[in-house]
Amino acid sequence: MPELPEVERAAGIARAAVVGRTITSVRVLHPAQRRGLPARAARSLIGDRVEAVVRRGKAQRFRLASGRELRVHFRMTGDWVLLGSGEVPPRAVRAIIALDDGTRLALHDPRALSVISLGMPEPDEGIGPEATDPALTPARLSAALAGRRIAIKQALLDQAIVAGIGNIYASEALWRARIDPRLPANRLEAPQLRRLVSAIRATMRIAMARHARYYGRDAGEGRFAVYDREGQRCRRCGANVRRIVQAGRSTYFCLRCQGAAC
Ligand SMILES: [Zn+2]
Repeated sequence: MPELPEVERAAGIARAAVVGRTITSVRVLHPAQRRGLPARAARSLIGDRVEAVVRRGKAQRFRLASGRELRVHFRMTGDWVLLGSGEVPPRAVRAIIALDDGTRLALHDPRALSVISLGMPEPDEGIGPEATDPALTPARLSAALAGRRIAIKQALLDQAIVAGIGNIYASEALWRARIDPRLPANRLEAPQLRRLVSAIRATMRIAMARHARYYGRDAGEGRFAVYDREGQRCRRCGANVRRIVQAGRSTYFCLRCQGAAC
């Protein structure tokens, strides 16, 4: 599931391909995406120019010369791919944006859960600071977590608390911060909050650097500290990585170095 680093990588691909270009057609190939972008709305994009591609949390916004925004959320399996000239789109392509220089930016999404919509810009109320934003301070995180008795792992998935973190990087950041993922969010103490904020930043920085290094290629599995590593050795202490289920989602952690006493 694409999180901040993956969406930023994808937004970079889109940005390089479409900014400054005029849209010549938008084809929506799957009914799920047509709900958000019906044929008439798709047609209205013809002749509009893309001025910027902005990422906020896990969402992307294509700012258009007409003042409107094309909003895209990848949800589970979405990604951008560029189609070569004359290339037949792969089966999982759900929408194709064609530009005046012949570029075709395609939404590739095996599960077809991505959401596309068109409208005027809306304020992003209810979205917390970006995981990479210096505005995310221990004090701000503490305020956002006050009164929240849910586990800290679950709290990190709430985009109103921090924007851009999903199931993978929540486990990774908590491991890096040596915080038990089951700890109630409102019980984190000052040193833990400081460690968590710097761990979130480091986790995002490392993931983005990896995407930059493997740009356009498979970044490779086995790259996580704990995520999807149940039963394997903790990269810090050598104990076995555990998997638990919290609110229906897998959490990976090391009981030895993320004990609640830390
Ligand atoms: Zn460990």
